[in-house]
Amino acid sequence: MTTFYDFGLHHSIVRALGSMGFEEATAIQVQTVPVALQGKDLIGQAQTGTGKTAAFGIPLVERLDEQSGNIQGVVLTPTRELAVQVAEEINKIAQFKNISALPIYGGQDITRQIKALKKRPQIIVATPGRFMDHMRRRTIRLDAIEIVVLDEADEMLNMGFIDDIKEILQEVPDQRQTLLFSATMPRAIQEIAQQFMNDPTMISVKAKEVTVPNIEQQYMEVAEKQKFDVLCRLLDIHSPELAIVFGRTKRRVDELSEALTKRGYGAEGIHGDLNQAKRDSVLRKFKEGTIEVLVATDVAARGLDISGVTHVFNFDIPQDSESYVHRIGRTGRAGKTGQSITFVTPREIDHLRLIERATNRRMERRSVPSMNEALEGQQRMAVEKLLEASGRDNLAEYKTLAEQLLEDVDSVTLVSAALKMLTKEPNTTPVHLTEESPLRVSKKKFPPKGKGGQGSGFGGKRPFRPRSGGGEYRGGGEYRPRSGEYRPKSGESRPRSGESSGRTYNKQR
Ligand code: ADP
Ligand code: MG
Repeated sequence: MTTFYDFGLHHSIVRALGSMGFEEATAIQVQTVPVALQGKDLIGQAQTGTGKTAAFGIPLVERLDEQSGNIQGVVLTPTRELAVQVAEEINKIAQFKNISALPIYGGQDITRQIKALKKRPQIIVATPGRFMDHMRRRTIRLDAIEIVVLDEADEMLNMGFIDDIKEILQEVPDQRQTLLFSATMPRAIQEIAQQFMNDPTMISVKAKEVTVPNIEQQYMEVAEKQKFDVLCRLLDIHSPELAIVFGRTKRRVDELSEALTKRGYGAEGIHGDLNQAKRDSVLRKFKEGTIEVLVATDVAARGLDISGVTHVFNFDIPQDSESYVHRIGRTGRAGKTGQSITFVTPREIDHLRLIERATNRRMERRSVPSMNEALEGQQRMAVEKLLEASGRDNLAEYKTLAEQLLEDVDSVTLVSAALKMLTKEPNTTPVHLTEESPLRVSKKKFPPKGKGGQGSGFGGKRPFRPRSGGGEYRGGGEYRPRSGEYRPKSGESRPRSGESSGRTYNKQR
């Protein structure tokens, strides 16, 4: 686990990342941040949702001079929404440093932008077309620019911004650092790299494939409010030997393990805030089977090697495919079969599809079990226990007692009573769980079916969106999608972490 201390960042940045809920660096960040901090050019390739924004945002904020009000950093992004999001994330990283990022995009009143530029932001996050406008009007000075970032380069290419990008790269000072991030590396991007970058380091983080065939993967569509009752029913039906329940945040883990305990399950939680001794003791109890349910955050479960986990419940859908693969990989170990059940709220279905695509696996849809099924599950367990006990030959001392009982009560009634006592009947003790907001996929990251057409959509690359695919150009070189294009509407775009709710990535409060 690489924490942000390991990069030798200024404490104001480490503090900011902490307040954003970032606990550890993502794979692409681990590899790119140190290189970028050294001032080297780099090309970073990783699938969407892997934290590429911070991968360049951190070095930008770290390296730029807060004493100077000159524009020192430029980030080019394909869309207005991304410009806004990226500027927001950079401003969060810079919240304890005197550095600010300003988004500049087409469609916004240019005189207003000129006014905003007078506040002397050090970083401009812009769509290429509008940046060119300012370049030509000389409302953006280029001579102090030290770092240029091309974010989502493949997307900019698809949108036909390639010439704008080339022109911008020609105009900015030669003595600069260029960082290029992209999910895919089409030839035209490689050419840009060759032409405009200085011996760039190539860093590519590949999505991990799922190699866990003996895990049965299911999902259930469950409303946030219903999740807990459904979890209890599933625990009753499956009676797992050992189960891990994954929650998104530390608070979630605490509340879940408390709620499960209240309802009579042997459960404990682990997350990063617990000290080592406590974590060890929880794990020991779990391994010994003293508790049957371990509630965990992604981070806390990292690297756990526990055999005999029969079930993984994703109480909250994981952030990305890697964390999904990691979570379900806790079960089905050592040749044993395992089962994973992922809860997905109606608004998270797209997110689930994204995971399916990245892992090249479909999850089987299951309907939510009823209270009755839960009861039946527990009754079955009671029957099994009773049968198992009657198969043993240590009952001699009880037989006389049984014969006496049968003189007064008929055998059916007697066995029924024994079964009822052995059955853990569904418990509806009220519990408290704070709601988590749904994870949502930005539309951009999830083109609807039929667009792009790269075969089945499973396992394929990101579909290539032709430049003329429904969009059109208007003045200023900005791309305007026609209505019906999947560019996210402002209200729909992905909420950024750090907002009170919204999408969080391993964010643990
Ligand atoms: P990409 O550009 O690779 O598609 P983003 O930069 O948009 O991915 O990041 C996806 C989400 O992950 C964002 O909500 C971001 O705030 C969050 N995130 C990025 N890095 C980390 C980290 N190290 N820890 C926790 N969350 C992170
Ligand atoms: Mg991005």
